[in-house]
Amino acid sequence: MNKIHMVDLKGQYNEIKSEIDKAVINVIESGQYINGPAVQEFTSNLEKYLSVSHVIPCANGTDALQVALMALDLRPGDEVITTDFTFASSVEVIALLGLKPVLVDVEVDTFNIDIEKISSAITKKTKAIIPVHLFGQTAEMDEIMRIADENNLYVIEDNAQAIGSVYTNSKNQKIKAGTIGHIGTTSFFPSKNLGCYGDGGAIFTNDDDLAKKMRGLVNHGMYKRYHHDLVGINSRLDSVQAAILDIKLKNIDKYNESRRKSATIYSDLINSNDIIKPMIKYSEDSHVFHQYTLRLTNGKRDEMVNFLNENNVPCGIYYPIPLHSQNAYKRDDYNESDFNVTNKISKEVFSLPMHSELDMDQQKFISNLVNEFTSKS
Ligand SMILES: *Cc1c(COP(=O)(O)O)cnc(C)c1O
Repeated sequence: MNKIHMVDLKGQYNEIKSEIDKAVINVIESGQYINGPAVQEFTSNLEKYLSVSHVIPCANGTDALQVALMALDLRPGDEVITTDFTFASSVEVIALLGLKPVLVDVEVDTFNIDIEKISSAITKKTKAIIPVHLFGQTAEMDEIMRIADENNLYVIEDNAQAIGSVYTNSKNQKIKAGTIGHIGTTSFFPSKNLGCYGDGGAIFTNDDDLAKKMRGLVNHGMYKRYHHDLVGINSRLDSVQAAILDIKLKNIDKYNESRRKSATIYSDLINSNDIIKPMIKYSEDSHVFHQYTLRLTNGKRDEMVNFLNENNVPCGIYYPIPLHSQNAYKRDDYNESDFNVTNKISKEVFSLPMHSELDMDQQKFISNLVNEFTSKS
């Protein structure tokens, strides 16, 4: 059996090596390393793939969130609601901009932001909601957009983990995740479903005014060279990464399909009363399995992780500490009882190897170990 990796970036590269190598050399030979034709080409192909009016490339997914928030002209102290159970980026950029992060609990079955908790967290100062499509599954966007409309709030979708997933709305229209809110953001960090070979990110919007503003913000607030109309940042996707991404974009549906297939195989093979398997809440295509995350309910999650590691199966804990408990984001006015779900699942979750190159032998081996551990513990 081949060595098992949490993500197999090298294996994926080997499949497209000749195309990638050629594209990278082309960029190097072109001499246009920043904002060259490769960036424009990828940007326009991503706009087509997502059916969105504007894609604004930038340096990483955290910058993408920051620029999205900067575009909204919020004032210090304005409140932004986001989820307690995610990577720190969203709460980090809210705090960094002098805004007030308001963390809310998640749904126990999807790990995504709890709609009812959003409603009860809204105050006069609330200006925006940042849902995260966690582990590759879209949040309940119809409800989020309805709440946002009713309360005049912006919605920024953090789509770093769910590029390519499709949300079916109440009118039965299929819309790509990240293009439903006012702004969507993503990351091209190597291990994401669409990852480059370094750092990268992008912002999506159908709003022409927001797009214009964000194009300036990522480029020092410049529209005309050396004329600075806004206080911006420097956040660029470089041409080499864009050329790589353009090739991987052609394969993204195939990659996501193979992740979904691997998820189905795990769910078929793993069987234990102590394990709760991932649930797909909406349609098949609403989940692209950035992570395949199980909950172990017998209190022995850390032992399970050790057991898997001892048997050369890497696995991850996303995320071990709720954001409201992190030193940087603790607040006196949070009640632990407002975070019952996050507090519980952060002690139960573990994520199995998930990528587009997993084979059946590996999945059988991993699933058997999970079953074996639960049967003897
Ligand atoms: C990876 C990730 C980010 C940050 O992306 P970077 O490119 O690493 O800055 C933000 N949000 C979520 C949910 C992520 O998974």
